[in-house]
Amino acid sequence: MFIKRIITSVFLLELLSGLFLTLRYFFRAKVTLNYPFEKGPLSPRFRGEHALRRYPNGEERCIACKLCEAICPAQAITIEAEAREDGSRRTTRYDIDMVKCIYCGLCQEACPVDAIVEGPNFEFATETREELLYDKERLLANGDRWETELAARIEADSAYR
Ligand code: SF4
Ligand code: SF4
Repeated sequence: MFIKRIITSVFLLELLSGLFLTLRYFFRAKVTLNYPFEKGPLSPRFRGEHALRRYPNGEERCIACKLCEAICPAQAITIEAEAREDGSRRTTRYDIDMVKCIYCGLCQEACPVDAIVEGPNFEFATETREELLYDKERLLANGDRWETELAARIEADSAYR
């Protein structure tokens, strides 16, 4: 009888503490987000979808040095290049296999002219693998679309580099 009362008391205590815990969190701010309608903050170093940037005059930043291709641990980048009439080198092909990519950011770190970058976009899921084979046209279009955000992220992080 005595043991039965102790067990009942412990059970009631546990129940009450559970109720109080629920009540306490009921009035606190939510820790969950109603994605995709709400989105959390992103670090300037967040490594999302890749983009190739241009200078303000429209010229491609990439000088076809191939450092990004050489450093990529996943061998996801394929570059072909040739010299222009003015003697400058530019890529004729710049592909990234986004399925191979491990989003390590080394391509961005290696680039001497901030041409290839990983931007804030993480919503680029596709239905087929082929859609994740990015070519130069797609990467430059990403750069044009995200340039304001990309420049702001580089600026925000510049003090630490
Ligand atoms: S983020 Fe890493 S794995 Fe992806 S393309 Fe750049 S270097 Fe390669
Ligand atoms: S994106 Fe940068 S690292 Fe890669 S080839 Fe162009 S200039 Fe070189």
